[in-house]
Amino acid sequence: MDLRLFYSIILSILVMILIVCVVKSFRSNKPIGKSLGKLLIAFIIPITGNMIIIISGNKNVSIIGYFMYFIGMNYVMFNQVRFTNVYCKGIGNGRKYKPTIIYVFLLADTIQLLLNPVFGHAFDVEKIEVQGLPYYRLIPHFGQTVHRLVDYSVYMCVLIIFTIAAKKTAKIYRERYTVIIVAMLILGVWQAFYIFSRTPIDRSMIGYGVVGIMVFYLSLYYRPLRLLDRMLSNIASDLPDALYVFDPMGKCIWANDPGLKMVDVVENELEAVPKKIYERFGVNALSEDEWGENKVLGDGDDARYYSIQKHTVRYDRKYLAGSFVSIHDNTEEQRKVQQEIYNSTHDSLTGLFTKQYLYEQIQRRLNSDDDTDYYVVFVDVKNFKIVNDIFGTNFGDLAIQQIASWIRSRVTDNSIYGRLAGDTFGVFRPALGFNPDKLEEDLGNFIVSDGTVEYHLQMNLGVYEVADWNTEISVMFDRAHLALSSLKDNYKSHVAFYDTKLREKVVWEQKLTAELKDALASMQIKPYLQPIADGNGKVVGAEALVRWIHPDNGFMSPAMFVPLYEKNGMIVEIDKHMWRCACRILSEWKGRYDDLFISINISPKDFYFIDVVSELTGLVKEFDIEPVKLRLEITETVMMNASEKRMKILDELRKAGFIVEMDDFGSGYSSLNLLKDMPVDVLKIDMKFLSGSENDEKSNTIIRNIIRLSEELNIATLTEGVETDKQFSQLSDMGCKLFQGYYFAKPMPVDEFVKFADTHGMQ
Ligand code: C2E
Ligand code: CA
Ligand code: CA
Repeated sequence: MDLRLFYSIILSILVMILIVCVVKSFRSNKPIGKSLGKLLIAFIIPITGNMIIIISGNKNVSIIGYFMYFIGMNYVMFNQVRFTNVYCKGIGNGRKYKPTIIYVFLLADTIQLLLNPVFGHAFDVEKIEVQGLPYYRLIPHFGQTVHRLVDYSVYMCVLIIFTIAAKKTAKIYRERYTVIIVAMLILGVWQAFYIFSRTPIDRSMIGYGVVGIMVFYLSLYYRPLRLLDRMLSNIASDLPDALYVFDPMGKCIWANDPGLKMVDVVENELEAVPKKIYERFGVNALSEDEWGENKVLGDGDDARYYSIQKHTVRYDRKYLAGSFVSIHDNTEEQRKVQQEIYNSTHDSLTGLFTKQYLYEQIQRRLNSDDDTDYYVVFVDVKNFKIVNDIFGTNFGDLAIQQIASWIRSRVTDNSIYGRLAGDTFGVFRPALGFNPDKLEEDLGNFIVSDGTVEYHLQMNLGVYEVADWNTEISVMFDRAHLALSSLKDNYKSHVAFYDTKLREKVVWEQKLTAELKDALASMQIKPYLQPIADGNGKVVGAEALVRWIHPDNGFMSPAMFVPLYEKNGMIVEIDKHMWRCACRILSEWKGRYDDLFISINISPKDFYFIDVVSELTGLVKEFDIEPVKLRLEITETVMMNASEKRMKILDELRKAGFIVEMDDFGSGYSSLNLLKDMPVDVLKIDMKFLSGSENDEKSNTIIRNIIRLSEELNIATLTEGVETDKQFSQLSDMGCKLFQGYYFAKPMPVDEFVKFADTHGMQ
């Protein structure tokens, strides 16, 4: 076959492949893509020139070929430099070398070559015959030598840059550069051979084509596997975890340093690894399957935690290539986790369980043990705020800690206990062995002390016996807490048991609280009137006493609900309602019973929550009644403990025309001495506070004196609770002017009272 044709075919194939490479390079999104594409385009020019020289037998065409060849080579060099700049980027100390000087040389050489047709200084061609066909061979002149010099210099520069890059880069990356250096060296030798051997046909361009394709592959697709290999083994060596690699036969072939240390072997004793791992951790490193296990070595504070895993490695997903075992020491993480769990479940001040954790633990106990009788104990410190207030929070904290220690020292082994909130604690303990008497004694002497200050803390225990195991823990503690309410202000006793009555009371109270509003609106709550008589038994007025005619519970006396509403302040609503009713009755009586008055009751809470003066003056104005007709009963205790402000209110009420009565005189600790300063018009003495004692004579003396003293102070007296004829006549003799009691009549509905007044009016 024609040799020249053969070469041309090879060159054309190379050119076509290069064109494909160019397209792929430009499409590649790697940073090197563009400069690689340009370099490959540059390669195509001299190769095409070479092809033209080889196949054309025409002088001029050959000369064009030579120009393409030489100037194309300059263009190749130009792009080679640019490509090198990108490929070797980041090497060295980051300084950028601008290769402008190289570009100037290449440009000058190109101009020099282009001037050849004018001066003929660079080259000439001569016609020879190759295989019987004309071929124009190159006759190099001075300009051609210059051209070679320039190109070789650039070539050397590029080679040097690559060599420097290869040297400066990390060892594992060196391969990236050395493969290109080797390719370039081969190309250089190959080219030199053709230049100096002067074989008629220059085949160096085949080399260019091949190298172009190689560079394309190396820079875009080649992934250095050896490099990856070495990186992975470096990573494995540096890993803090212990790592052991086994071959498919189970022989240990490699271990990293932590691995060697972990089981205490040296590198040439690797066979001992599986045995040592077994001795230390009790796991079989050679078992065929994959597994993971957590192991704890040692205990208490010295415990160390390990996570051990075994993995197998397969190639082609089928064949066992080996296996590896990793041991991770996660002691630090475990300790941190445990510390966090501890912090979230324990109170920081006392080290006791937190409320939530306490509940969880109790629930767990209840779920697992169902034949022990348990007590839920609510521990409460009375007036703990005062401790903080007087002695400061440091002492307060100390007190809390001492309470915690006290609880710790008093509970049995199988008790669960914790801090519920600020000054309350909870204990869950077996009922057996609970000794309230012993605790009473202990608590009576409970003292907190910081060495200098001593303080007796009143600590109370509410106890609930767990009856229904399905009751929520929080409810159990609520009940234990509720038991405390039965202790009230009793400073002598400290332990109280919850019973169902207590619970029923609470339910009852909640029901009443919820119902009040409707009951008022629908007049279930209304006044009964109890007659008040003068010394002749003639009805002169009445006290309005509240009654609740309840749709379910029937008739309810105030004892059943007044104390509750006193406690929660809702008594204010009842009283306002009662006052209004009294005013309405008085206004209805106008013209018929103008002489009768009505006494209303004012609770201490009323003064606290509303403006009693404006409320009452507003009412008498609204119903257009005289204030004297409305008598106000204010309890003795309120008056005796009265402040300036309260006194002023009483004064204002009297100035507004109301008659103010001191109710339940004798029930409290009132001193007769104080009476003279009291802004009251009537003293209401309750028989039940004075009589009933064994010594009737003595109480008679007291009453007689009270009445006389009142007369002197210009205060009228009214005795209530008069039940017998004897009492009535005795009191009359003593000088009492007004009477109220079952002797005359019990409290009754308004219409009945009117009839009663009619029959007991004239005497
Ligand atoms: P209080 O104001 O001392 O009312 C007198 C209580 O003694 C009434 O009981 C009355 O029924 C009762 N009583 C009257 N005569 C006799 C008697 O001869 N012998 C005996 N043993 N008792 C007699 P009641 O109506 O059950 O009221 C009890 C308490 O409830 C009242 O004591 C008062 O503190 C309170 N209360 C009643 N109604 C109201 C009210 O509308 N508002 C306020 N805030 N409290 C009221
Ligand atoms: Ca009263
Ligand atoms: Ca009374």
